[in-house]
Amino acid sequence: MHSQIEQIYQSVLKRDPNEKEFQQAVYTFLLSIDKIIDELPDVTYHKVLERMVEPERVIMFRIPWTNDEGKLEINRGFRVEMSSALGPYKGGLRLHPSVNLSIMKFLAFEQTFKNCLTGLAMGGGKGGSDFDPKGKSDGEVMRFCQSFMTELYRHIGEDTDVPAGDIGVGAREIGYLFGQYKRIENKFVGVLTGKGLDWGGSNIRPEATGYGLVYLSDAILSDRHMELNGSTCIVSGSGNVAQYTVEKLLDLGAKVVTLSDSSGMIYDENGIDREKLQYVKVLKNVQRGRIKEYAEKYKVTYIPRNSAEPNPIWDVKADYAFPCATQNEITKADAENLVKNKIKLIGEGANMPCTAEAEEYLMANGILLAPAKAANAGGVAVSGLEMAQNSQRVQWTREKVDQELKNIMYGIYKNISEAAETYSTKDNFIDGANIASFIKVARAMIAQGYV
Ligand code: NDP
Repeated sequence: MHSQIEQIYQSVLKRDPNEKEFQQAVYTFLLSIDKIIDELPDVTYHKVLERMVEPERVIMFRIPWTNDEGKLEINRGFRVEMSSALGPYKGGLRLHPSVNLSIMKFLAFEQTFKNCLTGLAMGGGKGGSDFDPKGKSDGEVMRFCQSFMTELYRHIGEDTDVPAGDIGVGAREIGYLFGQYKRIENKFVGVLTGKGLDWGGSNIRPEATGYGLVYLSDAILSDRHMELNGSTCIVSGSGNVAQYTVEKLLDLGAKVVTLSDSSGMIYDENGIDREKLQYVKVLKNVQRGRIKEYAEKYKVTYIPRNSAEPNPIWDVKADYAFPCATQNEITKADAENLVKNKIKLIGEGANMPCTAEAEEYLMANGILLAPAKAANAGGVAVSGLEMAQNSQRVQWTREKVDQELKNIMYGIYKNISEAAETYSTKDNFIDGANIASFIKVARAMIAQGYV
């Protein structure tokens, strides 16, 4: 590493000593930028990297709400407004007990570059709370969302900051959040994306992250004379991204044999067909059940999650793997299993699903790795299209949005593969994604002066 880049990294370690996930995201990003920094003296002169690792604004707040017994509960809320270099802050809201400032900052940092890759005018942000929606009634979730928005509303707006969903935030939560915003501001505007189809949402938004992941993976494979048709795939998670990844893999003729949640995984050697997938959608989205119930219904293998490594899901024999649950779900030990089983491609549906050591090991062993910044950008891309539709007060057809999504994902593939070849090595899509997006954000920051 150049001494200047090393210094920036050391200053992050010193300034944010407890923010492991943020440090990890910055570290892997800096490793890529290290390869081009000599060619960009203006980036050094204008301290662009030093500015990029410091959010423009961090908002942290108290969220009081009452549970069904009438008792007061207090959670902590966050919104990290990382960069407005390319447009209004844009990024999801996560509701999960693990949420903390480090996770919010890593996600907002990644989001800035992901949003850039879509080619749409969006800055980067992320938010959420350590509230756990699991086991809560609809009334409790609504009261929590209303209290969350009672603080958040003053910081967001259709031209300022436009949140969306992420882990634990789906259609139900977006509805409650939007309702409260409207009530306070007395404005019906596109301040959130992922809205219901009847009230300002976009076609294909729920599907977009999973579909986009498969489109990008398919583009990588087709270019190398490989295909999804007839392949066996493993998918982790069972939420929004996992469900629509499976759906598109089925459309393209692949067989998917796994799904998981934080309690365990299922292995269905006959494959998850459309009827079973429909069952998963209802189970997870309506009944808010556990993936174990799939194993009971279809009499397939269920392996409870033991937090000790390695995770058995990454030791299932397959051609391609799609981690779609959460950060750092693939450790070095899991990566060794993936390599041993000759997995050919990993498409990252989740954000930062590989630890830095796992990523290094997978790359060293020649596995095609489609990094999250590029591979899961379909969700925010269609959120960007939802913003455009809201501004025009129109709604595009499914076919139109799907075609736009495909165009964006193929455009991202072209962009990151060209950047990889130009600045790094062929097939190093991690460098390709980091470098292509960095150059564009850096240029905008330099042009806009010292802000
Ligand atoms: P959901 O809440 O719909 O589903 C999350 C899934 O991951 C659930 O199956 C959940 O299991 C599992 N999971 C969550 N946390 C953990 C954990 N600590 N350990 C093991 N499993 C866990 O979220 P999404 O599908 O929306 O998000 C999944 C990933 O995709 C995240 O990394 C998110 O940031 C990323 N992403 C999402 C986008 C979107 O449009 N929704 C866009 C881009 C990226 P359980 O039910 O047990 O919690």
